[in-house]
Amino acid sequence: MVFVSSRAVAPEVVRPPTLEVVELDFDHDIELVLAFLNTCDAEDGTETLDDHDQWKQWCADRGLGAAPDVEAAREIRDSMRSAVSYGVRPPGLATAWPVQVRLQRGIPVLAGTDALGTVLVAAARLVHTEHWERIKICPADDCLWAFYDRSRNRSRTWCSMRVCGNREKARSWRERHTTA
Ligand SMILES: [Zn+2]
Repeated sequence: MVFVSSRAVAPEVVRPPTLEVVELDFDHDIELVLAFLNTCDAEDGTETLDDHDQWKQWCADRGLGAAPDVEAAREIRDSMRSAVSYGVRPPGLATAWPVQVRLQRGIPVLAGTDALGTVLVAAARLVHTEHWERIKICPADDCLWAFYDRSRNRSRTWCSMRVCGNREKARSWRERHTTA
């Protein structure tokens, strides 16, 4: 009796977990997605996803767990690079990859079941939070480096103004002055 009335006066409030406990680390997502997009390097002429062992090592270095089929990884990476470069999705490609929803302190969050799933979940978070629109690929033919545009008005074109941007400026200057 006393117990019931005391509860009625001062009910114990069980606070639901707040979103703070699953606060997402976008920098980590950005870094992971950029690293995945940059597994091919036009400047060095290297391709990590040519070889299953290299891909496996790439996944192990980042603690991403099991490395799935390297060909699937390459197809997904190329598809994502095309989407970033041209702002379109390549036609006729319906690539899907299984991921899972986990409850983290009662809050559902997406999680990968393998390395590729983890990369895709990070990319999906960037899409849903509009960080994806800041991912760009440098248009210099011998660079094609994926980078994150942190400029205030999202105006960055080149991976680095000091390297590709200035190189491009010098090239167009030379072209203008040699054709004259
Ligand atoms: Zn560049």
